[in-house]
Amino acid sequence: TLNKYYNGAVCMIVMKFGGSSVANADRIRHIAEIIKEYREQRPVVVLSAMGDTTDDLIEAADLALTGKVLLDKTEKLHLDTAKALGIPDDEVKKRLGELRTLLTGVSMLKELTPRSRDYLVSFGERLSVRMMAAYLNSINVRAEYHDSWDVGFVSDSNYTNAELLPETWETIRTKLGPYAAGKKNDGKPIPVVTGFLALDKNGFITTLGRGGSDLTATVLGASLRAEEVQTWKDVDGILTADPRIVPDARPVPVATYDEAAELAYFGAQVLHPRSMLPCRQTGTPVRVKNSYNISAPGSIIVTKHTEKTSAVRAITTKQGVTLVDIVSTRMLGQHGFLAKVFQVFSDHRVSIDVIATSEVSVSLTVDHEKADLSALRRDLAKFADIAIRKDRAIVTVICDVRRSSQILAQTFNVLAKEKINIQMISQGASKVNISMICNSSESARVVQLLHREYFGSADIEARGGTA
Ligand code: ASP
Ligand code: MG
Repeated sequence: TLNKYYNGAVCMIVMKFGGSSVANADRIRHIAEIIKEYREQRPVVVLSAMGDTTDDLIEAADLALTGKVLLDKTEKLHLDTAKALGIPDDEVKKRLGELRTLLTGVSMLKELTPRSRDYLVSFGERLSVRMMAAYLNSINVRAEYHDSWDVGFVSDSNYTNAELLPETWETIRTKLGPYAAGKKNDGKPIPVVTGFLALDKNGFITTLGRGGSDLTATVLGASLRAEEVQTWKDVDGILTADPRIVPDARPVPVATYDEAAELAYFGAQVLHPRSMLPCRQTGTPVRVKNSYNISAPGSIIVTKHTEKTSAVRAITTKQGVTLVDIVSTRMLGQHGFLAKVFQVFSDHRVSIDVIATSEVSVSLTVDHEKADLSALRRDLAKFADIAIRKDRAIVTVICDVRRSSQILAQTFNVLAKEKINIQMISQGASKVNISMICNSSESARVVQLLHREYFGSADIEARGGTA
């Protein structure tokens, strides 16, 4: 089945493991076994820092600014893990020593530039790849660690949130192409690459923004035309609903990049849309796999569906939403009304999530916490009547919008029967979602009802109908 999406180029894969997958010695052993299982497929491995190391380093940096050097947790985690894995710890000790010196410097100067912050944070990934490569070798799986710049990752100098430079793609091919194109059993070591990091033109370490390891993996996969990029998680891929709301939610076998982007927006367990871009560009499939359920296929994200799929992919919800109704007090159909509305939102830096319009009115949703609505209301009131309703939720049906009229009819039939009042509805411009606004208190039930309707979930009445 792997070959089903093979795009005719080099047959290799990228395997990315996040912080929780390499959080301790047990997890590292487990992941090493997974890598070993896939070694015939010429994997390039991408790792995050162990567990919460990135957060811990950021915290240590902030503390150093106040004059204190506190690195015990990070030191202990890495030294204990090296010991438990039975790998030599001189390399680990050397890096930790550098890190302590650096923090001491910061604590004395009480000054930390974004550039130094990136350098400091980079130790997390630089340590994890060294440890994993050493462990793989100790179990006779040949592996070699790489700081990502050694395999081509160059970025601009926008420290803490750097952008990769286009030449990265070509350099990766030069550096890793020979490995990727190698033959079975040619003895070439598996590259284990630091996620999240790059080097700028001046030779300083940069980071690609939080969660950036996914981007490292997708850029590698796209550039090498991998058969697929696997991101390994602790769940069965992308689920049809949040399992806390719908306990029998199940994996979505195939989703398109568009659908996955909608899901990511609603906080489901997928990659950040930004990190899907490289693979989307080359059509390289991204597979989300469960490291606790290796044989399960997980979810694969592809350019478009090739097989007949169900009309509905998943149902998601987002809480903490405010609904704003704006009705023009001027003439019917006065042009420029929408432009004025948007200008006010833009002036107040309030971003709009879901929107529905008619000639003289517009209803839209915003996140409550982020929004200073009193000032916004004052400005809107100059040309419109405003009603603001808090404690609403968005429920989104990610679906094949070519079947939207059927889905709309079916959805409203279910909700009407249950006397649930939907206050607004909108069909997303990306054409893969239908979003509805309801009261926050009803959203779990709406998700459960719709999940049962489209996926035949277990009896919700038996559980009292709420999450
Ligand atoms: N370690 C980095 C972070 O925690 C990068 C990553 O995990 O993707 O953000
Ligand atoms: Mg992390």
